[in-house]
Amino acid sequence: MNTINKQVQSLASVETQSVSILGSTGSIGQSTLEVLSLHPQQFHLFALSANTRADLLLSQCEKWQPDYAVLRDSEQAEWLEQSLIEKGLTTQLLHGSEGLDFIASHEQVDIVMASIVGSAGLRSTLAAVNAGKKVLLANKESLVMAGALFMQAVEKSGAVLLPIDSEHNAIFQCMPTPRLNGASESSTELEVLGASLKAGGIRKILLTGSGGPFRCLPMDAFSTITPDQACAHPNWSMGRKISVDSATMMNKGLELIEACWLFNCSPSDIEIVVHPQSVIHSMVEYLDGSVLAQMGHPDMRTPIAHALAWPARVESGVESLNWTQMNGLTFEAPDNQRFPALDMARQAAEAGGSVPIALNAANEIAVEAFLNEVIPFTAIIEVVQQCLEKIPFEEPMTLDAIEAIDFQARKVAKHCCQAFQKVSS
Ligand code: NDP
Ligand code: MG
Repeated sequence: MNTINKQVQSLASVETQSVSILGSTGSIGQSTLEVLSLHPQQFHLFALSANTRADLLLSQCEKWQPDYAVLRDSEQAEWLEQSLIEKGLTTQLLHGSEGLDFIASHEQVDIVMASIVGSAGLRSTLAAVNAGKKVLLANKESLVMAGALFMQAVEKSGAVLLPIDSEHNAIFQCMPTPRLNGASESSTELEVLGASLKAGGIRKILLTGSGGPFRCLPMDAFSTITPDQACAHPNWSMGRKISVDSATMMNKGLELIEACWLFNCSPSDIEIVVHPQSVIHSMVEYLDGSVLAQMGHPDMRTPIAHALAWPARVESGVESLNWTQMNGLTFEAPDNQRFPALDMARQAAEAGGSVPIALNAANEIAVEAFLNEVIPFTAIIEVVQQCLEKIPFEEPMTLDAIEAIDFQARKVAKHCCQAFQKVSS
């Protein structure tokens, strides 16, 4: 029996699996808890974590009674510690990035849901990978920033990496089983083989996206878009950062880079297709012209349940699609003029090195500035562009070098945001 089959069998046969959720108070974290609540026998909740929402973390601890909880924000730690004691809970409170690394890599943990938003999730996600866990990857930013290092760590530790991002989860489901980052049925190990898509009989990946809330908005109205309008996604309910990314379509750009790492392919192997109904979550086209699509409601509980139980299948709480009420599925090419983030991210994927790191860092700063009403919606992509022009090209080989570029790009992006603020005030 080859290694992948052994892994599949052992994953399927374990009775109760221990789960840590990095970012349990977020949109993905809460959806994960909803799925886990349907399977109390199959999963044990080992640990939860939050950044600042201590009250929500407390109520999650009351309901779930995990072994550990981690709070990033030190100011509320004392209050939370006291509250846990008052409620008679035995959950142990940990702090900061050491606490996150601890719950990501603890020997009792089988599965880690990596659902912290942004670059803040990189270290703990890597800790889970280095510890050889089954890692459910929602935090796409960590692959955008540190894809090479990340995939090398997966190969070295034997971690099982499963995509949560709905498109990548869909692509994974449409690949010849099991094939992720070059591993194929005929391979002897779940590892990076450098195999091309063609070796799996694949012609291309069709990465779908809804086009976000402003697909049809006249472009001269873009400058007055408010944060609440940008966060009102027509199909998906998500955290505020990814909602803004969807509105600029930077999300699709980040997903293109994410897909290149996960499926060991180049940007030219991936076609972005706008599909406003979000029923098809992505497709894989084979050399013979067959196209396999994964479909379902736009509800993150489906990819979460898929990855939690993989290679088995479990209930997610998501209802069946009603085919008789479907008003047609439509497809169109992305509008690169309206959404310049797409070309920007494609070029960053092709350039590699420091470019995707700077792209991601500048985007995080610009989105935050937009959400805080410091810069207008239209300035987000301009800030990213200005930052990309100012950060010199490098090939970082270590995590510290990656974080140094991230730090530098954030500084430059903050300056660019301030310049926008001065011009507009
Ligand atoms: P949310 O903003 O809803 O949640 C983010 C989580 O991360 C919260 O638990 C938050 O804690 C925590 N967090 C934020 N900053 C830090 C920090 N500095 N240190 C530690 N923890 C922190 O985000 P989403 O759930 O929407 O997204 C999470 C990730 O999943 C992102 O990378 C996103 O791109 C990806 N994703 C999300 C999808 C979705 O449908 N939401 C779909 C596909 C991918 P607190 O609550 O205390 O602030
Ligand atoms: Mg997605």
